Amino acid sequence: MTKYKLEYIWLDGYEPVPNLRSKTKVVAFAGTPALDDLPIWNFDGSSTRQAEGHDSDRLLQPVAVFPDPARTNGMLVMCEVLLPDGTPHPSNTRATIPDDPDAWFGFEQEYFLYRDGAPLGFPREGFPAPQGEYYTGVGYKNVGDVARAIVNAHVDLCLEAGIDLEGINAEVAKGQWEFQIFGKGSKRAADELWIARYLLLRLCEEYGVDVNFHPKPLGLEHDWNGSGLHTNFSTLHMRETGGEEYFDELMAAFDDAKDEHIAVYGADNHLRLTGLHETAAIDEFTYGVANRGASIRIPHSFIACGHRGYLEDRRPNALADPYQVAGRILQTILTVHTEPVELLEEAAA
Ligand code: ADP
Ligand code: MN
Ligand code: MN
Ligand code: MN
Repeated sequence: MTKYKLEYIWLDGYEPVPNLRSKTKVVAFAGTPALDDLPIWNFDGSSTRQAEGHDSDRLLQPVAVFPDPARTNGMLVMCEVLLPDGTPHPSNTRATIPDDPDAWFGFEQEYFLYRDGAPLGFPREGFPAPQGEYYTGVGYKNVGDVARAIVNAHVDLCLEAGIDLEGINAEVAKGQWEFQIFGKGSKRAADELWIARYLLLRLCEEYGVDVNFHPKPLGLEHDWNGSGLHTNFSTLHMRETGGEEYFDELMAAFDDAKDEHIAVYGADNHLRLTGLHETAAIDEFTYGVANRGASIRIPHSFIACGHRGYLEDRRPNALADPYQVAGRILQTILTVHTEPVELLEEAAA
């Protein structure tokens, strides 16, 4: 038997932005445990805004498991929070979203690395050189002396954990970075993004650095980019059938549901979705080919393939909950019929 260090990870009840929480359970197994081998556990919900003190036990239901690359015999266990009767806690956004393994999601997670209340590389007072050379930049004046070690170590941690991290890049603002996570199914893709965020936060402890996911940490009044969570998505129908007629109906459905989307696309998004800095205005729904100022950007490849492939929703922000973002996108897609209209009319007749 080997003693495994199981890191149970969950989202707390803080609003509007939940925090990641975790604690370790040591359990002996004959070999690497699978998800089904992992016991339900509990925690004190009164310390995480998930219960009152007099009835504070909340359950942790393991829903995904990854090897923990930073610990010998360690596992990262993503959990849903349940009430004592086994039903989902109101903070458990994962439990109620639609899922489909053929719905693929690619999240572009932007974030700032912060130290002493300012982005890494900012002078003690004021601002560094204006934006321009930082995006995909190289050299000390652009990325400083610490960030590269952090982002590279984060890539390795994610890959060793079996997370489908697809790339990283330095972003437009100094101290701002991005990583991309791809996943099949709304729950799986979002599980991987939450674990990738967890690994980044934990890694940065060693450097005395915080991760700032706020969508506009430097404020509206300064000419510095905010942080998004561009969400690329495709369903089997979008990839294999598609077509202009279906696309038009899909965009009409997104337009109809635009407020419901914005409602789950992250707090403080009005500070970021201004229409400036490669964003769309928060109260409008727009789309366009290769248009980085639109709500939804249509890749050139999508048009070239006969309106087939994936689309990029550029509105979600960096601190959005990916369960809710992916779930909402899928919910809207599911309102649009995928049969040719003639077949639907025949069926109705
Ligand atoms: P950008 O040009 O917007 O910066 P990135 O290269 O950062 O684009 O991100 C593109 C994202 O699109 C990646 O996360 C990738 O996984 C995702 N993606 C690619 N193909 C698909 C697809 N068919 N369905 C869903 N997401 C996809
Ligand atoms: Mn990107
Ligand atoms: Mn980006
Ligand atoms: Mn993008």
